[in-house]
Amino acid sequence: MVAEDSGAYRLTLQLDQAATITVGRLGSFAFKAGQYAYIGSAKRALSKRVARHQRLAAKKSGKLHWHIDYLMSHPDCHMIKQELFEAGKECEISAAMARRRGVTIPVEGFGATDCRAGCKTHLYKLPERKMATE
Ligand SMILES: [Zn+2]
Repeated sequence: MVAEDSGAYRLTLQLDQAATITVGRLGSFAFKAGQYAYIGSAKRALSKRVARHQRLAAKKSGKLHWHIDYLMSHPDCHMIKQELFEAGKECEISAAMARRRGVTIPVEGFGATDCRAGCKTHLYKLPERKMATE
């Protein structure tokens, strides 16, 4: 049974300049400036989860729990878009992102440690030339 208010979400982030960011136990990684898409899911309280991400991105303070928190707490990182999807869609969306032309994987395993569909990551670097659509 799917709980009320469960679902998947996609966040589009903008990193104003290149930065080396420590992502919890995954390690330290060099992130290029530009846009990123992150796909996550919440088993409950989807809207609260997304609001929490947004708060962290805006205030740069709060507990760092998910991999994405480490990126979003960086001073040069801003959330520019958030989209909600049906529960269980996260890996489908992730796979579709992976197939897009020009999309690259900045960090293997990012946000995908408990992913059962075998995604290499749930964070993608969007191509330079165009803004995230869809
Ligand atoms: Zn996945």
